[in-house]
Amino acid sequence: MIRTGERYLDDLRDGRTIFINGEKIANHVDHPAFKNAIRSVANLYDYKVEHADSMTFKTEAGEQIGLYWQLPSTPEKLIARGHAAYEWAKQTVGWFGRSPDYVASALTGMITHIELFESYSQERADALRNYFSYVSEKDLYLTYALINPQGDRSKTPGEHTKNIYHTLGVVEKNAKGIIVRGAKMLATGAALADEVLVGTHYPLKQGVDERYALSFAMPLNTKGIKIISRKSYELGANPKDYPLSSRFDENDSMIYFDDVLVPWERVFVFEDIEMCLSQLDSTATEVMMDTQSLARYAVKLHFLAGLAQAMAETNGVEQIPAVKESLAQLACYAMNVEGLFNSVLHCPKVYNGFYVPDKTLLYTYRVISQSIYPNVLETIRKLAGGGILMLPSSEADFEDSEILGIIEKTQYSSIASPVERVRLMKLVWDAVGSEFASRHLQYELFYAGAPYQTLGRLYTQYDWEASRALVEKIRML
Ligand SMILES: Cc1cc2nc3c(=O)[nH]c(=O)nc-3n(C[C@H](O)[C@H](O)[C@H](O)COP(=O)(O)OP(=O)(O)OC[C@H]3O[C@@H](n4cnc5c(N)ncnc54)[C@H](O)[C@@H]3O)c2cc1C
Repeated sequence: MIRTGERYLDDLRDGRTIFINGEKIANHVDHPAFKNAIRSVANLYDYKVEHADSMTFKTEAGEQIGLYWQLPSTPEKLIARGHAAYEWAKQTVGWFGRSPDYVASALTGMITHIELFESYSQERADALRNYFSYVSEKDLYLTYALINPQGDRSKTPGEHTKNIYHTLGVVEKNAKGIIVRGAKMLATGAALADEVLVGTHYPLKQGVDERYALSFAMPLNTKGIKIISRKSYELGANPKDYPLSSRFDENDSMIYFDDVLVPWERVFVFEDIEMCLSQLDSTATEVMMDTQSLARYAVKLHFLAGLAQAMAETNGVEQIPAVKESLAQLACYAMNVEGLFNSVLHCPKVYNGFYVPDKTLLYTYRVISQSIYPNVLETIRKLAGGGILMLPSSEADFEDSEILGIIEKTQYSSIASPVERVRLMKLVWDAVGSEFASRHLQYELFYAGAPYQTLGRLYTQYDWEASRALVEKIRML
């Protein structure tokens, strides 16, 4: 049965342990800190159902599931999943990084390279393959938690001698599975997802850190999993004042594993440092999920370009040559990323009979996305001036006839009513200046790794030999 929004909501009422603002929340699905974002995910599932032809496929078992679970065994399948990701991103105008297609794509990229797991351990490979079948057939929504809490970054997790379980690690193993304790830094969407996929993507020291070299997946309502949410931006946010925060705050949470039993059939890597890194670096995991990100980012940049133009028109400045240049710069960023997205879909690498996105292009995307986002925000802020602050404090001001009278006299635009002007400027503020916007800046800067990491990886991936050959050609003249 195809997973609808309603079914997703029902499944999510799972009694997970989630804390926010000093409270353990009994029913997070209807809690004002999370409920709108959860409804946004439900809307995505409904959109998928309504556009089943382009968003889903039928499995051999007869289930109609999201295209993000389909292995890219032909070039057309890669293109179709890319287009589906783009369509989904349009439903949240690019503000939902961790929609259900993100980690599903990561997992798909592990399955295209299943032989890596087989050469590591047949049992772990079987666990991964079975898990993939289970979550894909049910079309579950996964988040992931890879990064260890910072603590002291000059030390590896095992060198945190004051508390070696500051970072998630194995406490013991037994016939049933492993017992794990400790934290992962952040899992975006932990309040919204069904399950968490855990991995490790940080340098670990042989002989010291094996207990942290793990990968497994568990339902988020598992006994002992404690979700510690950051501040909610949708809590108390009126959709008219905060059109984005109120709908698309996808949540980030630290996940603490309080002696959680992970059965062996859910363990994919166990105490193997090299395999932990290979799981992400030597498979199509990163490139598959980055392709989803690239689609989302392209949509977000188009949205921001359109928003800037609407604001410039409302302020009557869009015909000024310098303003047109700024707007063209935003269009250029969006088209640049759109072009990269199309290259990724149309220039795959063939691996094992699968058409997987090209690593160099995706590593380039990571660097580009981090470097242009601050410029995009700055460009829009410069175009905005004080108009994004000369605004009524909240929707309540419209209820007071005296304030409303002043709003109507002062929120002037040649092309928009005072109310339309206020609404637009509030949208701009929510996109570039609110706490939600600030979190998005941090997200774009870090979710794919710190900038020093993404640049470092592009450095190792780029074809220097080919570029050096060009230099040699001239030097030999
Ligand atoms: C909004 C948001 C959502 C996120 N969601 C998720 C998620 O869902 N799942 C997940 O697994 N992770 C998530 N993350 C975590 C993200 O992957 C990490 O932030 C990222 O990998 C960088 O790691 P870090 O934060 O530990 O930074 P660090 O590695 O501690 O680096 C921070 C800064 O310290 C400096 N620095 C540190 N080490 C070096 C070095 N060796 N060389 C040079 N400079 C250095 C750099 O200035 C660097 O930018 C999220 C992060 C954010 C901000």
